[in-house]
Amino acid sequence: MRRLDFITLFNPVATIYPWTGFAQQQAPLLQIRPVVVTPEELSIAYPKVEAWIQKTLAAYEKDAQPIGSMHFARLPLYFHSVLLATSKFIPIDRVPIPPLTAMGLGRFAEVERGNFSGVTYLDRYFIKRTVMIEEAVHFHELIHVLQWRLLGPERFLTAYANGLEEFGYEDSPLEKMAYDAEASFKRSSAIFDAEKFVVERLGSL
Ligand SMILES: [Zn+2]
Repeated sequence: MRRLDFITLFNPVATIYPWTGFAQQQAPLLQIRPVVVTPEELSIAYPKVEAWIQKTLAAYEKDAQPIGSMHFARLPLYFHSVLLATSKFIPIDRVPIPPLTAMGLGRFAEVERGNFSGVTYLDRYFIKRTVMIEEAVHFHELIHVLQWRLLGPERFLTAYANGLEEFGYEDSPLEKMAYDAEASFKRSSAIFDAEKFVVERLGSL
């Protein structure tokens, strides 16, 4: 099995969203078929995942760094300046993943054991120090930041968990979207508006 490079997890944090420069834009509702993570499972897991993410982000906020500090030349061509100014990354040796099994989501135990290059929670992403200078990894995680914002935490969580279960990691729709965008970015083909790309892809799911 291919090593999992990137993952984004979900959370139900339904409250604070520090997006001031964007109109609050709702992506079209995902047509999630079939629902493989039951509402009961989610209702039990949500508060636990939410608490874990809030606690984890709070603990690491002191290490969060502005994306601008990396002086990447190409990211500003694809992402809105407000997104780049409000999102931050946290360099780390091993990215933190919630203890899913203990939270009643034992079906995702494989994720828990994974060794990932990056993981995004809301507008913060953890990134392994070994890949921290790779602009494409930041690009990939920023696509997830957009997904979090456009879907909202609860729909993001549901879509991500269902996609993972139904299609597997790489073919899960939210992950595939990030990989496809990253591939275009790496090819240096035509510059595109990343947010528009995510909105359109969410609408076609
Ligand atoms: Zn990803």
